Amino acid sequence: MPISDERYNRQIIMSNWGGEIQQKLSGSEVVVVGCGALGTGTISYLARAGVGKISVIDRDYVELSNLHRTSLFLESDVGEPKATTVRKRINQINADVTVEALTRDLDPFNAGRILRGHDLILDCTDNLLTRYLINDCSVKFGIPWIYAAVIETQGMTMNIIPEDGPCFRCLFPERPPAGTLPTCDTAGVINTIPPVISSIQVTEAIKYLAEKDFEVGHLSTFDIWAGDLTGVDIEKNEDCQSCGEREFEFLEAEVCQTTTSMCGRDAVQINPHMKGEMDLEKLAENLRDLENLEVSDALLRFEVDNYKIILFKDGRAIVEGTEDEKLARSIYSRYIGN
Ligand SMILES: [Zn+2]
Repeated sequence: MPISDERYNRQIIMSNWGGEIQQKLSGSEVVVVGCGALGTGTISYLARAGVGKISVIDRDYVELSNLHRTSLFLESDVGEPKATTVRKRINQINADVTVEALTRDLDPFNAGRILRGHDLILDCTDNLLTRYLINDCSVKFGIPWIYAAVIETQGMTMNIIPEDGPCFRCLFPERPPAGTLPTCDTAGVINTIPPVISSIQVTEAIKYLAEKDFEVGHLSTFDIWAGDLTGVDIEKNEDCQSCGEREFEFLEAEVCQTTTSMCGRDAVQINPHMKGEMDLEKLAENLRDLENLEVSDALLRFEVDNYKIILFKDGRAIVEGTEDEKLARSIYSRYIGN
């Protein structure tokens, strides 16, 4: 594929760039997991910089509430799958870039097949379960990845090459129980933090693909409201279940969320197979602005749009008003966490 010097002129003329880095980007294949606020920014910067092939994966459809913080979606895209909409938009921005669009959940059955063959994985997901899954794939198959997350006014990012430094489970050894962490749908997010974190993530991706100045094991956190950028070096944990013991818990389907359409009920059950119990009172506090919220010892009920959600202490939820398992999983991830 010929490299357009005119298109990339302003980066090629930088003293640390040159034609060689441009050639490396053009020959690179990366996968971006998630096409939300982080994903659309990250994909846009990767494509504009000239990364040759970008696979994008997202299970969701564009909603009006995404538009305040996503850089590639228009009002006319509402209701369309995010991944194919991103492909369409990138084709209009840089036709030299090949985009593969996958509208699906990354799960233990397909993760290895989807992620292998890429030079680098960029995490732009909104949930921890998928991050643990990416991490297990990264360690098992030797694929580097860049963790990134945003919530409220904060974002964080860390470069991970498991053989060279700590992995995600060295940093967060145990998956927190569902419902204990805020999500962007319960705590919110300012629209200026995702582009900052995407910028850091893509800069690091370019450094990795260019084989220049890429360092692992440093967790950076930026609070855009406070204007504070802080960093901490993370140690590799020799006893880490993933990179130490090489036990890939999240690639084993039975520990992961299962979803069952409830025949004849217009409802879907989500079971996260939690080890402990949920603190329903605490979750109710996070969800206090939602409609018809009721909490008791045994369960929590609330309504979102036209869906009723009934959540049990063991983490199971029934989403009434749909038989669409993907939609039900999305509602669970957004309001309850994972
Ligand atoms: Zn580890």
